[in-house]
Amino acid sequence: MPATPRRPVIAGNWKMFKTQADTRSFFAAFLPLVAAADHCEIVIAPPFTALAAAVDAARGSRVAIAAQNLHWEPQGAFTGEIAAPMLVEAGCRAVLIGHSERRQFFGETDATVAQKLAAALAAGLQPIVCVGESLEAREQGRTDEILRSQFAGAFAALTAREFSPILLAYEPVWAIGTGRTATPQLAAEAHRFLRAQAESRFGREAAAALRILYGGSVKPGNISGLMAEEEIDGALVGGASLDPASFAAIVKYREG
Ligand code: PEP
Repeated sequence: MPATPRRPVIAGNWKMFKTQADTRSFFAAFLPLVAAADHCEIVIAPPFTALAAAVDAARGSRVAIAAQNLHWEPQGAFTGEIAAPMLVEAGCRAVLIGHSERRQFFGETDATVAQKLAAALAAGLQPIVCVGESLEAREQGRTDEILRSQFAGAFAALTAREFSPILLAYEPVWAIGTGRTATPQLAAEAHRFLRAQAESRFGREAAAALRILYGGSVKPGNISGLMAEEEIDGALVGGASLDPASFAAIVKYREG
């Protein structure tokens, strides 16, 4: 596969943490720490209620704000849901789709992931699509099978052109919030497998350009080992993105 330079992405997923006031404090501390870090893209996904505060606080910086979920319809009678055009209006540039917590606790399926993906692309939001196997699936030797079916389920309807803005996040469920990080080699192996799926579906060029982030207990202490793997193009960070100093240290992994 030809070596295409892929710009790293470090993304934070705040999950259901931080009020608007917390968000303003975070950015006041975080932005000065990463002002000189231009080797990667930085994305932060706050909860819906803190999006406006985050967009406001990040204005003029290189930090892009993402939502953590969306509905697939552009509007409608869907109580409690948020549509892609609303996220765009709020200042979001990206959106997480198919996070394992949504798959586990909120009935997200490959079919809804595909619908949400189409809605995000139609609205001009950059999708960050999460895939990953459970501990049970890994122990049963079914990791490739799960990743293959999640990949196919999410992307089957897309053309190579539609696929091109997508960021893929490999997040083994057993590593999320558990403190149990995949080794860089294990993560790289899964990324290689996913890139091979992209090559067979969308061709060599699209696969070589695809950025695949690793997620699962990424911390300041393990990020540089992960980023040393050519296959790992960035990280999706949960717990360690909540603290400005810790997330800044992850962003500045080259200095670690
Ligand atoms: C996540 O929420 O996507 C995640 C990877 O969480 P953590 O870093 O806390 O494992």
